[in-house]
Amino acid sequence: MYIIDKEKVAKAKKIINSSKKILITGHTHPDGDAVGGSLATYHFFKKLGFDVTIVMPDEIPSSVAWLPEANAILFNEENEDRVGELVSEADVIFCIDFNEPKRLKSLKEVVLQSKATKIMIDHHPQPSDFVDITFSDTKISSASEYVYYFLKEFDNNIIDKTIAECLFLGIVTDTGSFIYSSATPPTFKAASELLSYGIDKQKILSNTLDSYSENRMRLMGYILENKMVVMQEQKTAYISITKEEFERFGYENGDHEGFVNIPLSIKGIEISALFMEMDESIRVSFRAAGNFDVNLLARNHFNGGGHQKAAGGKTYKNLSETIARFERIIKSSHKYQVIKLSS
Ligand code: 5GP
Ligand code: MN
Repeated sequence: MYIIDKEKVAKAKKIINSSKKILITGHTHPDGDAVGGSLATYHFFKKLGFDVTIVMPDEIPSSVAWLPEANAILFNEENEDRVGELVSEADVIFCIDFNEPKRLKSLKEVVLQSKATKIMIDHHPQPSDFVDITFSDTKISSASEYVYYFLKEFDNNIIDKTIAECLFLGIVTDTGSFIYSSATPPTFKAASELLSYGIDKQKILSNTLDSYSENRMRLMGYILENKMVVMQEQKTAYISITKEEFERFGYENGDHEGFVNIPLSIKGIEISALFMEMDESIRVSFRAAGNFDVNLLARNHFNGGGHQKAAGGKTYKNLSETIARFERIIKSSHKYQVIKLSS
């Protein structure tokens, strides 16, 4: 079982208990982990009688929109004035599943200016010090797993089926249904405890993983057939998608979810990349199966970050220049090999 720093939780608890308004926030393009961990925290503190709100920089994917009260989440891009008020009125702000303020995108400035006590619960490397209390550990599979340890230590009696459902979904999505190496014995123990609240595992999995559109499946078929480039010698494969292709296949928020992992199932491929042409930038996603550190690759060359095995970023060059740059880096470099994985 993971042992959380009890003194740090006690410190957070003291501050929270003398507060009224709690605001919870996650990163831009929120994923299942950010949404699940945030909603669990929301239900927990609501049950304790606090005035709680969740704000995200932008929309949540439809695959997690079925979670209880997901419709209460406010998106800054649609409600900037109201969200600004809520952030400035908050006594405590939870920052869930991100390690640096730029991940808040349009919410960054208001959150940084707020006088609230900021509490980070995260599992990305190199947390920045914009918060007052930091719960951050790269050994934990997901922010949701960490939120579980935090809430359990805060008051185990408050955790119920709804909270367990949100946390379980966060863990499932961030561990590729418990397949990635980030799913450790404590992760399985946490999942087992969450199951004991009577949650419907099948419902969570099928609502989240089997809820894609026909369009998304056809886009996937198209890119695998036509847009995947394999660089066997470099143990690398990548896929690119243009704006026109997204439009042709009726792209909806979150449709690319999972695409970047697919090339890793080719024998011998250890690095995978996905390049997506957006309105004003190219979004990049990286995955590694071996020791290559895609966090460093994203940080050093693609204005981003993440974990050793999963990272992302963006560029303001065009798609072909971005891809050419990636190929050059991969061909010339073995400097992102991890000698010793961070402990
Ligand atoms: P994804 O490829 O699924 O968008 O992201 C993979 C991982 O990298 C996630 O843990 C995500 O938080 C992180 N990540 C994605 N994009 C960025 C980015 O632009 N900056 C940073 N710091 N992390 C990112
Ligand atoms: Mn996460």
